[in-house]
Amino acid sequence: MTYEKVIWLEIHVRIKSETKMFCSCKNAIELAAEPNINVCPICMGFPGMLPSLNSEVVRLGTIGGMMMRCEVNKHSRFDRKSYFYPDSPLSFQITQLYEPIVWAGEVKVLVDGEERVFGIHHMHLENDAGKLSHAGWQTLCDFNRAGSPLMEIVTDPVFSTKQEVMEFLKELQKMFRAAGVSDADMEKWQLRCDVNMSIRPQGSSELMNRTEHKNVNSFSAIGRCIDAEFKRQKKIVESGGEVDQETRGWNDDTGMSTTQRSKEDAMDYRYFPEPDLLPIDLDDNFIEQCRQSLVELPIDKRLRYLSEYKLKEDDARLLTTDSSLTTYFEKLVELTKDPKKSCSYITTILLAMISESDEVNGVDDLRFDIAEFARVIELVNADELSSTNSKQVIEELFQNGGKADIIVDENNLRQKNDTGALEAIVDEVLADCQTQVADYKWGNENIFGFFVGQCMKRSKWQGNPKIFNELLRQKLK
Ligand SMILES: [Zn+2]
Repeated sequence: MTYEKVIWLEIHVRIKSETKMFCSCKNAIELAAEPNINVCPICMGFPGMLPSLNSEVVRLGTIGGMMMRCEVNKHSRFDRKSYFYPDSPLSFQITQLYEPIVWAGEVKVLVDGEERVFGIHHMHLENDAGKLSHAGWQTLCDFNRAGSPLMEIVTDPVFSTKQEVMEFLKELQKMFRAAGVSDADMEKWQLRCDVNMSIRPQGSSELMNRTEHKNVNSFSAIGRCIDAEFKRQKKIVESGGEVDQETRGWNDDTGMSTTQRSKEDAMDYRYFPEPDLLPIDLDDNFIEQCRQSLVELPIDKRLRYLSEYKLKEDDARLLTTDSSLTTYFEKLVELTKDPKKSCSYITTILLAMISESDEVNGVDDLRFDIAEFARVIELVNADELSSTNSKQVIEELFQNGGKADIIVDENNLRQKNDTGALEAIVDEVLADCQTQVADYKWGNENIFGFFVGQCMKRSKWQGNPKIFNELLRQKLK
């Protein structure tokens, strides 16, 4: 029998607010220099301390929800999820079980070049726990990120392949980066994914017992975890058994998962409305302000680059991976009105220089004004600079900054378009290369490029090759 996978995800994304969710401690966006320096009586759960909600968290969370095309819940509230664990000094988590901040959305993704839409069940806000490090028999507690704000996104059971899951997560990451909601960097623990999975006979609509793998920590590990879990469940079902509904831990080194605990019910957490916080009531004005700050979805941008700018898919993908690069490209297009050349100058010349440089790590560190880069492209388009020489100008701008026109003139790179002067060069070349001319006239047309090369050389690479071409064609008839 053939089996299919039914997968859904629970994704935690750290919101990029300045301060934590319920106190004024610095939010743990980056790793802090030392453990336990960004803590206070509120996030450490001292008796009598009261949380107060950070409005920036609500704003960024609402924007995050809107990016996923969710329905904004004007009235939401917090619930207390009671459990004890050493990384949680409050002995409970403040989360939203019954009335989350947003409901029902969808995320558009390209899977193997095909447009797909995956449903979001809801997204709620909650606070993060601290970090435990186990060293031998000792456990060290760092509470720097205890109380940091998280969005928990719960998808519908809509994924059936690992490609879908991985593309979806990458799209989500791009989306939150573009909106400034989160950097969603998995290595920095800013995006964590729990994978829920069951299998069923192909085409069936029944749902069988599922397992949950917590915090699988890279895109590729998620793919490996899905493959291994599919094999494991299939083996159990095919031998007449039943998959236990449980939480399992994925070990990416061994490529295997092990039982952690059987799945709790909501009952076990004794959820009840958080008594120390008022519900969140969003007014129309606030919702409108959030809507105003939305940006174009990275996938829409990519599709627009393909259809409107006629860029290749790889280039469109490359230019939208990083928001600084996207902004740089769009500014350059605005200045040059030439999307294709702007794309090729960035992807083939500029990015190569950046990857070789020790000092320049990205377009934000460049030593020259973007207007100078645009000017280089303009000079090429106006036949005042050859594309070969344009690389030299960009190299100089890249190393020392300056003005494109000054570099062109100081290095005698301005292309000569004066037909009279170029014709004199063509005549000289033809007079000096009579053997080759005779050869050409006998029918060896392959050596046409040789004449162009000679003319270019004699003009010190300043002659316009198009004009040389035309003149040579006329004279070699
Ligand atoms: Zn604090």
